[in-house]
Amino acid sequence: MLYLKKKDYNALLSYCRQRQPQEACGLLAGRNEHGNCYVEMVYFLTNIENSQERFSMEPREQFAAVKDMRAHGLHLVGNFHSHPLSAAAPSAADKRLAVDRGFRYLIFSLLEKEPELKVFLLEEQEMREEMYVVAAK
Ligand SMILES: [Zn+2]
Repeated sequence: MLYLKKKDYNALLSYCRQRQPQEACGLLAGRNEHGNCYVEMVYFLTNIENSQERFSMEPREQFAAVKDMRAHGLHLVGNFHSHPLSAAAPSAADKRLAVDRGFRYLIFSLLEKEPELKVFLLEEQEMREEMYVVAAK
């Protein structure tokens, strides 16, 4: 189970909408405890691909984000990106790029009127959809 704060969910959604029709991306910092993932901070990064179908995060921003999370006593627990034009399912490229076992991959689809967030956890060779909770705190 992944736990996401309501304010972070809202910030993610508004960032993904703002970046439309490009894919938005960023990193998630938090804690992993007993198989659960608690997202404590979200970092919004530049997609240097400037693409509607791909993303890659700006390297210096990634480095700065990881440094900042460490300063806050947090770990890199996952990343997010948006799918402005497709469903909230990993693309072939997403699967190819998913190499960190135990890492959470959040995909925010803006395809439908109602946005849809899905969380995937990389286990062995497979990305498995994981349940999540958006909590007030
Ligand atoms: Zn994708």
